[in-house]
Amino acid sequence: MDVIAVINQKGGVGKTTTTVNLGVALAERGKRILLIDMDPQANLGTHLGIDVNDGATTIYDVLTRDKRLCDVLRETTEPEVFCVPSNLELSAAELELVSMVGRETLLRDALEVLETGEPGRFDSVLLDCPPSLGVLTINALCAATRVLVPLQAEFFALQGMAKLTEIIGLVQRRLNPEVTLDGIVACKVDRRTKLTHEVLDEVRRFFGDRLMDTVIRPNVKLAEAPSYGQSVLSYAPDSNGAEDYRRLAREWVGELAKDVPTDRDVEPIAAEGAAEVE
Ligand code: ADP
Ligand code: MG
Repeated sequence: MDVIAVINQKGGVGKTTTTVNLGVALAERGKRILLIDMDPQANLGTHLGIDVNDGATTIYDVLTRDKRLCDVLRETTEPEVFCVPSNLELSAAELELVSMVGRETLLRDALEVLETGEPGRFDSVLLDCPPSLGVLTINALCAATRVLVPLQAEFFALQGMAKLTEIIGLVQRRLNPEVTLDGIVACKVDRRTKLTHEVLDEVRRFFGDRLMDTVIRPNVKLAEAPSYGQSVLSYAPDSNGAEDYRRLAREWVGELAKDVPTDRDVEPIAAEGAAEVE
């Protein structure tokens, strides 16, 4: 079972959007997917049409009350995509877990149990992380086999990346030797601007091939889809957003031919000449 932590301690960079749409794109490719919300803001469940305040159990009960994931997960509007939602209650977990022995591996332990029981057998689990590097994100890193970092190609994009790679390194050495930073995906990126090219070049200098060739373009359908409780692949299957996330899924599973044109082949134009996309 592939466990993908979608992490960036900055908010608003595209973590939840990437978790939902990459997850659904992987499901379209025949995989059975579980999405887990580790963020008390609870955007993931809402994005998938779940009422996160209906009193049902959430990831909070798994982490603090020994509930099993299989009893907490729910169906979503997307075929073969299941979700363990959170709600604001999860913000209390950080404090509640402070004195608990083994608090960093609660999620990993819960996933191990899930794998052995019904309705186990998920091909991939995606973890939508909060915009911080606290105990919830550490739980995600301890449970993960791979890390995917969405970032926005803006002037401050690399700020905070040193801290993030340091934390991943620390977890790798002490708690989870398996975890690796496998991908960085630029989100809401207009690849025709000069600034974008400069920022992506900078990211590539630091992270080399781990910067995904696939770039997620700004697309209003991606911002609209959550209010319909759907992924962009269901809400607007022919949109740029759907196309980009399908391509990201192919690249993520290693099925993209190397000769497919990438953003590197697109000539930059001056920033002020960049038109709004869609
Ligand atoms: P995070 O989870 O990192 O806080 P989100 O995925 O919630 O970030 O994205 C922040 C906001 O930007 C949301 O309103 C989302 O709909 C919007 N958004 C994300 N990606 C795109 C995109 N490629 N184009 C347009 N809007 C986007
Ligand atoms: Mg989010």
